[in-house]
Amino acid sequence: MQIVCLDMEGVLVPEIWIEFAQRTGIPELRRTTRDEPNYDTLMKYRLDILKQHKLGLPDIQAVIAQMGPMEGCKDFLDSLRETYQVVILSDTFYEFAKPLMVQMGQPTLFCHRLEADADGMLVNYHLRMPDQKRAAVKAFKELNFKVIAAGDSYNDTSMLGEAHAGILMHPPENVVREFPQYPVTRSYTELRAEIDKAAARI
Ligand SMILES: [Mg+2]
Repeated sequence: MQIVCLDMEGVLVPEIWIEFAQRTGIPELRRTTRDEPNYDTLMKYRLDILKQHKLGLPDIQAVIAQMGPMEGCKDFLDSLRETYQVVILSDTFYEFAKPLMVQMGQPTLFCHRLEADADGMLVNYHLRMPDQKRAAVKAFKELNFKVIAAGDSYNDTSMLGEAHAGILMHPPENVVREFPQYPVTRSYTELRAEIDKAAARI
């Protein structure tokens, strides 16, 4: 029995914060895990910027509602789910992901939670647990599943390492250089081919 664990942003949907930065014209919000590998440092920085600009959850959700999954994402997921159990492991938040999940056909998503005050201003974020992607893969292995994981960035590398097979999708060049052990894919066709290849091997 095989489970495919997929990162969300950069693999299935655009980077939410980058899209938000473009639409609001706040370039400081373009920083992602590609630039700052420490997720807590990155999130505190983002919440500070949002507070300075008085932007709350409704503003962010309005932008996300207009974003869609990447071209071909829904077909890729639908086809993948015919053969494998698929779980999306993301460091985003349920409040952000909701409109995108609808467009992707409600796949299973493990992520985190945001806390807003009565005015919709974000006051805190709650990670369900640290390093949840790797912990999920480890738990699936303990349940006797073979795990294939795919992601694009630093926050995926511990899950890729824990999985029976790890694959990079749309990675930036610095990640490709630092993690040469993983095959690199740049389209859903390539990613599906690597998943099938890994499934035959593990
Ligand atoms: Mg990503």
